[in-house]
Amino acid sequence: MESVIYLDYAATTPMREEVFQAMKPYMTKEFGNPSSAYSLGRTAREAVNSARKIIADSIGAKENEIYFTSGGTEADNWAVKGTYRKALLEGRHCHIITDEIEHHAVLHTCKALEDIGCEVTYLPVDDTGKVNPAMLERSIRKDTALVSVMMANNEIGTIQPISELSKIAKRHNILLHVDAVQAYGHMPINVDELGIDMMSVSAHKLYGPKGIGFLYVREGILDEALLNGGSQEMGMRAGTENVAAIVGLGEAVRLAMQELYDEAERERKLRDYFIDRVTAEIPYVRLNGAYGAGRLANNINFSFSFVESESLLIMLDMKGICISAGSACATGSKSPSHVLTAIGLPTNLANGSIRLTLGRSTTKEELDTAFNAIKEAVLALREVSIQYEDFTKGQQVNENRRILY
Ligand code: PLP
Repeated sequence: MESVIYLDYAATTPMREEVFQAMKPYMTKEFGNPSSAYSLGRTAREAVNSARKIIADSIGAKENEIYFTSGGTEADNWAVKGTYRKALLEGRHCHIITDEIEHHAVLHTCKALEDIGCEVTYLPVDDTGKVNPAMLERSIRKDTALVSVMMANNEIGTIQPISELSKIAKRHNILLHVDAVQAYGHMPINVDELGIDMMSVSAHKLYGPKGIGFLYVREGILDEALLNGGSQEMGMRAGTENVAAIVGLGEAVRLAMQELYDEAERERKLRDYFIDRVTAEIPYVRLNGAYGAGRLANNINFSFSFVESESLLIMLDMKGICISAGSACATGSKSPSHVLTAIGLPTNLANGSIRLTLGRSTTKEELDTAFNAIKEAVLALREVSIQYEDFTKGQQVNENRRILY
């Protein structure tokens, strides 16, 4: 479509031209298998190694601590299931602590482990989506093997106090896994400074290709192979490497790190401009997640009273505006978002929620167009809402009221 306004960069990002160009040779003439000894193979191996180095440098890790995966979901599964298997092999019972607003890649993995005897504590979050470190400390048991808390939430953008959580985990000798799929490339992350033991990342959230990501694993903490077979990925994830995708990930990381601070600052300003405009000019709206520094630079999430987000999304789609009703993975599910429920939203408000996520191409003009379309659609939907009619009959509508629930 020609005049699309794409505001769903948390769902996925378009691949950068530079990334595509970097990948191209490895899909055609440089097609060697990195395990082959001759020069065609060595070229592919060098390309994989150089991507691994770029990535390791970007988080202050060593090259042998980066394992390529098919993306964030696989990395999350590996970290959580690997820790469980390690505990079992060492003859220990396994307890895992996570929180209620993790991505399903972590939550459903934990549920699957519960089916086979693992015990899991799901920490509640406050009304902005933040995990309380004191609550983590209170939930720790003798058999706790892993704490898994995301760096930043994919729906409401809340940034977790990872440094505080990691100090608690370290004090009790417990591993910390961090799903950084939404945060990496948007904010600086150093695994040593933050005390992270394992970290999941996905390339398609940072203008890289789909189907590739990595799991950072601190040296010596986990020797549970994800896939058994050949000796690829230091024997931990067998199977011929997706060389072109790995090269693309490396290039996407290199570019993201170069632009990190400037781009985050630019998006932060646009984010706050849009948030301030919506709260000032559309009545009966609630900002979900933190305001200001505790929020990802590119994330905006609002709930509108007396509006169904599905209808809103269709009306915006007709104008070529792509936003989401929550996480893309939950689309099609009838139940309200687990994240919005966990921060205390009643079902009617959770069902009137939209997420806009900004990216490199987002401009103020695009946001102004999106704002006008959202305002028009919200007001039109309220015009035909019986609940809104009952509400306006029941009380005088004050156009300046910001929030209702
Ligand atoms: N974790 C978070 C926080 C995400 O937002 C996503 C994707 O939206 C994933 C994990 C899954 O990543 P992938 O799509 O690479 O499997």
